Amino acid sequence: MAPAQAASRVPPAFVQPHAEARRLSALRQESESCERCDLYKNATQTVFGDGAQAARVMLVGEQPGDREDIAGRPFVGPAGKLLDECLHEAGVDRSLCYVTNAVKHFKFEPRGKRRIHAKPSAGEVQRCAWWLGGELDVLRPDLVVALGATALYSLMGRSVGLNKERGHILKTSSGLHLLVTIHPSFLLRIHDHQDRDAERARFVDDLRSITHYLK
Ligand code: SF4
Repeated sequence: MAPAQAASRVPPAFVQPHAEARRLSALRQESESCERCDLYKNATQTVFGDGAQAARVMLVGEQPGDREDIAGRPFVGPAGKLLDECLHEAGVDRSLCYVTNAVKHFKFEPRGKRRIHAKPSAGEVQRCAWWLGGELDVLRPDLVVALGATALYSLMGRSVGLNKERGHILKTSSGLHLLVTIHPSFLLRIHDHQDRDAERARFVDDLRSITHYLK
């Protein structure tokens, strides 16, 4: 599913106005005081992307989760662990990739002592594309991997059928190569073992395409 209330087409993250800096470290520092939408109010901190500026491949997820919000780093929770395992099985060294999210603050609903993930709205995704566009501009990666519908929406600027394009590498109007696949948290929500194993194998297959861009 695309982000909540995602109806209209917006400029893709890489062509709309975005943060500008020569170094990721400068972008990261600037993003720490971002108030472009309301999500900063309840989250612990901005969770900016992680990885080398020289990385040729960028992986984009949806938003930080509970663990990421506390740690201040993307993909360090259960979905991140699963992503690491699947990248490893696909023959991809995560340390060669830059990993980030379409939205940099954790959106959640409190439920007792727990904080339950809440889907970012289309407006929040569009606001935060300011930072994703900045990361894309600094890195200029050879391949961007959209992990799930929110990342795909931010990168393409419209709701693209994830199931239809899954496993494909799209070429955007700016020449960017974009691999479409699921978010690893999708696998965590599948209860049937056989179904989960089959989907996991398919995800690993999708990720194998990355190896061609790391040679
Ligand atoms: S979610 Fe993004 S746009 Fe909103 S306050 Fe955080 S960094 Fe800024």
